[in-house]
Amino acid sequence: MYLGEIVEIGTADEIITNPQHPYTKVLRWATPMLDPEQAEEAMRESPPVRKIDIPDATNPPSGCRFHTRCPEAREACRQETPELYGDDRRRHRTKCFRQDDDHEYWQSPEISKTEDTEGTASPVDDASADGTSG
Ligand code: SF4
Repeated sequence: MYLGEIVEIGTADEIITNPQHPYTKVLRWATPMLDPEQAEEAMRESPPVRKIDIPDATNPPSGCRFHTRCPEAREACRQETPELYGDDRRRHRTKCFRQDDDHEYWQSPEISKTEDTEGTASPVDDASADGTSG
């Protein structure tokens, strides 16, 4: 669940070994590994999330609630709410446009990795634009 909504449903094995939703992938990344070698390798990876800040759950973001933090977010994610797409044979369902090969998401522009949640440039970009940073 993310901000009060189910984002992925499946068997424990499917969710653990084959997570599909970008938020589930963050949770898997944040889960400690029992194997010390795997744990060391995982610690070298960057978190698969665009922003650490969690939005206000009482005033969730428009469209897909995870779009402000999702590294795969595109403009379509800001405007439209995904349904639970899935494979009924495997009983695995995921609330993400990336599960639909024909969705307009794939033609939609990427949300800049430096853009903040309101669609404005980040403070870092503002500082560079007015020449106040180096
Ligand atoms: S719908 Fe878009 S923002 Fe939401 S999880 Fe999928 S790619 Fe990320």
